[in-house]
Amino acid sequence: MKTYTKSEFRKKLEMKLTNKRTATLEASTNNDLFYAICSILKDEINQAGLETKQNNIKQKRRQINYISMEFLIGRLIESNLLNAGLLDVCNEVLIELGKDPKAVYSEENDAGLGNGGLGRLAACFLDSIASLGYMGNGFGIRYRYGLFEQRIVDGNQIELPDNWLQEVYPWETRRIEEAVHVHFGGEVTAEQLADGNLKFNYKNQETVLAVPYDVGVVGYDNDVVNQLRLWSAELPNDTVEADYSNRLEHMQSVERISGFLYPDDSTEEGRFLRLKQQYFLVSSTIQTLIKQYKERYQLPITEFHKYHCIQINDTHPTFGIPELMRILMDEEGLGWDAAWEIVTKTFAYTNHTIMQEALEKWPVSQVNSVNPRIFMIINEINERFCKEVYEKHPDLRDKISDLAVISHDVVHMSKLAIVGSFSVNGVAALHSQIIKNHTFNDFYKITPEKFNNKTNGITHRRWLMTSNPKLTHLINDAIGDNWIKYPGELTQLMRYYNDTSFLDQLAEVKLHNKQVLQEVIYKQTGIEVDATSVFDVQVKRLHEYKRQLLNLLHIIYLYNEIKRKPSIKIQPRTFIFGAKAAPGYHIAKEVIKLIHAVANVVNHDSDVADRIKVVFLENYNVTLAEDIMPAAEISEQISTASMEASGTGNMKMMMNGAITLGTMDGANVEIAELVGKENIFIFGLSSEEVIQYQLNGGYRVEDIYKTDVRVKSAMDSLVNEQFGYDYAFNDLYYHILTNNDPYFILKDFNAYVDIHLTAMATYQDKKKWNQMSLMNIMKSGQFSSDRTIKEYATDIWKLK
Ligand SMILES: *Cc1c(COP(=O)(O)O)cnc(C)c1O
Repeated sequence: MKTYTKSEFRKKLEMKLTNKRTATLEASTNNDLFYAICSILKDEINQAGLETKQNNIKQKRRQINYISMEFLIGRLIESNLLNAGLLDVCNEVLIELGKDPKAVYSEENDAGLGNGGLGRLAACFLDSIASLGYMGNGFGIRYRYGLFEQRIVDGNQIELPDNWLQEVYPWETRRIEEAVHVHFGGEVTAEQLADGNLKFNYKNQETVLAVPYDVGVVGYDNDVVNQLRLWSAELPNDTVEADYSNRLEHMQSVERISGFLYPDDSTEEGRFLRLKQQYFLVSSTIQTLIKQYKERYQLPITEFHKYHCIQINDTHPTFGIPELMRILMDEEGLGWDAAWEIVTKTFAYTNHTIMQEALEKWPVSQVNSVNPRIFMIINEINERFCKEVYEKHPDLRDKISDLAVISHDVVHMSKLAIVGSFSVNGVAALHSQIIKNHTFNDFYKITPEKFNNKTNGITHRRWLMTSNPKLTHLINDAIGDNWIKYPGELTQLMRYYNDTSFLDQLAEVKLHNKQVLQEVIYKQTGIEVDATSVFDVQVKRLHEYKRQLLNLLHIIYLYNEIKRKPSIKIQPRTFIFGAKAAPGYHIAKEVIKLIHAVANVVNHDSDVADRIKVVFLENYNVTLAEDIMPAAEISEQISTASMEASGTGNMKMMMNGAITLGTMDGANVEIAELVGKENIFIFGLSSEEVIQYQLNGGYRVEDIYKTDVRVKSAMDSLVNEQFGYDYAFNDLYYHILTNNDPYFILKDFNAYVDIHLTAMATYQDKKKWNQMSLMNIMKSGQFSSDRTIKEYATDIWKLK
C-alpha cells in the first residue's frame, strides 16, 4: 500500500475534507476528520483488495472460508491504519492539527456483531489470516442491530438497541450485483426422471434476497486485503404480492432475518428466527462459493474441495453441510456418494463448548419448515450414518441412539457437524481432551483421526500494539520490532529479567495505563479509584460458570473482615467488573445487581477507608476492553474447571502483563505451563474432579455451608440487610443452596480466599511482581492468533 509523508498525508486529508465533507482542515470536526481518514484508507483498501483477489484467482490459490454467525469486530480505524502502515503518520498529522487522535478515532461506532469470545475469535482470526498472507475470507450476517447496549439503572441492567449503522459504516461496500436468492419453507416433491434419477421440485417457497456488504480485512504490512462478507436480507424486487400493504409487511418480515443478533452467550436460543438466520447465512455463502468457483476456475465441480475449505465457527453454520449436498445434487447433478465425498472433504468444525445447555438442538418440525429439502438431506445423512455404525462398529450398536444426528425428533447440530466434517477441533488442549474422552467419546472411537486441538489466540496487533502503545515502544526499544511479525520472539525480553531499570519502566507503563483507566472509570461512574491500588479485573460475559459470584463472595468476605477488625492490614485493591448478561438470564442479572449493591456499600463505608473499591464498567465491549486490558494487574479467570473451553480474555491480559489468578481450566492450563507455576496463581478443583462429581455425585453443598464459618458468613450477607433490604438477594442465595451449587462456588471458596492472600503477599515485592509480569508478556507470543492460524492453515486447511 502507498506510504505517505506527513505533508502528503496532510494534503490528502485536506482534499478528502473538501471533496467529501465540504469542510476545511481548520474548521473540521472530529467526525469530519474520521470520515476523511476512512476515505483515504478505503481507497488503498479497495485497490489492494482488487489486486489480492486477482492474484489469488490467477494463481488458483486454495481458499479458506470462515463462516461465523458472529464477528465481534469493534472499531477498525486504528487497526486498519496500523496494518496499512499509516498509524504513525496519521497520529502525527492529527496532533499537528491540534486534535486528539483518540478522540477522532472514537467517532467510529463499535461494530458489535457478536456476543463475546466466539465472535471476537472470528475477528482476530481474520486479522491473522490476512496478516499471514493466506487467501481466506469471512462470512457473517450484517445485523441491523448488534449486541445490545447495556445501561445500568439503579443497579439493574437495561438493554438498548445498538444502532451501529445509524451513520454510514465507512468500511463496507454494498455489492448488489452479487446478491443471491435464499429459499425458505414451502413443499418439496420428488419426480422420477426418464433416466431413473430423482428431480426435486419446490413449491410455495419464500424467497429472500441476500445482499452482500464487503468489509476489507487488511493484512499487516503485506498489501494483502481479504474480505469479510456480511449478508443482509431484503425483499426481492420481483416478489409478486396481492396488495401493497401486504408487500410492506412482507418486507418487514424478510428484513427481520438480518435484523438483530441474538444476545445469548453459552446458552442456546431455540427460536425459529435464529434458525432462519443460520440457513440464510450458509445458503447465501455456499451458493456464492460455488458460483465463484465455476466462473473463476472452469474446473469440474468434483474438485471443489481441492480449492475450498470451510471452517464453521461452532455449530451455528452446520446447515452448510446439507446445503452443499443440496447444491451438488439438485443443481450440479451429482449422486449422493460423489456429493458426500466433496462435502466431507470441505467442512471442518470448531467446537466451543461442552455445556449441555449450549449444544444446539432443533426440533425436526422447525428444521423442516425452514427448508424441507435440507431436512430431507439431514434425514438421509442420519440414516446412512446409523447404518454405517451398525455395520462397521458392532460394539457401538447399543449406542446408536446416542450417536444419531436425529433422535427423539430433535436434530443434534454437533453430531451433524462431526459426521459431515473431516476435522473437529477444540479450542484449548484441555478442552480438546474433554471432547475426546467425554463429550464426543463415541465419535472419537469411530473416527479418531478427525479430532484435533487448536488453542485459541488473539491478535497482538490490536491487543498489544494499538491498545498499549507505551508497552509496545518499551518492547521495541528493548528487542527491536522483529516480534511483530514473529510474536514468539517476545521471549527475547528474557534478557531484561534482572534489569532493574527495565523492570521499573515496565511498572511505569502499567501505572500510566492504570491512570488512563482511572480516568475512564471516573468519567463513567464518578468513582475515584487509587491508581496505585492493585487493579483486579474480571471482564467477560456474565455467566454462572464464569463465577463472577465467587469473586463477589470474596469481596464480601474481605469487607466483613474489615468490619470485624477495622485496623486489619490489607493491600489496597480496586475490583473491576465488566459484563453483559443475556436479557432473559435472571440469575446473571441478579449478579450484576449484587455487584452494584456491594459497590455501593463498600465504596462509601468509612471503615473501609478506600482500601477496597468495587467498580462496574457498563457496556463491556471491544472498545472498552482496549482500555481495560493494558491496566489489569490481576486477571480473574475463575471458571468452574472444565467449563471454559479456552478463554481469550486471559490471553489479552497476560499479553499486557497481568498475572492470571485462576482455575486449571481452558487455556489457563497452557498459560500455567508456559510461565511456570511461580508466575501464576492457580486454585480450586481440577476439571477431572468436577467431572467426577458431576458423574458420580459426592458433593453436598450444605456440608460446606453448615460447617464453614467463612462460607456461611459470606453467603448470609446476601440475605441479611447488609447490601440492601432484607432478603434482597434471596434468589441468588437459594439458587446456590437448593441446586447443590452446580458451579462449585462454595466448594472452591476457601482455596480462592487463600490464593488471593498469596497473590497480595507476592505483590509486596515489587521487583518480583514486575518479573512475573515480564515473564507473562514474554511468553504471550504463543497466544498470538498468528500461531493459531498457522496451525489451522497447516493441519486443517492445507493452505500455502
Ligand atoms: C475477549 C473478549 C471476550 C472474551 O472474554 P473471555 O474472558 O475469554 O470470556 C468477550 N467480550 C469482549 C468484548 C472481548 O474483547
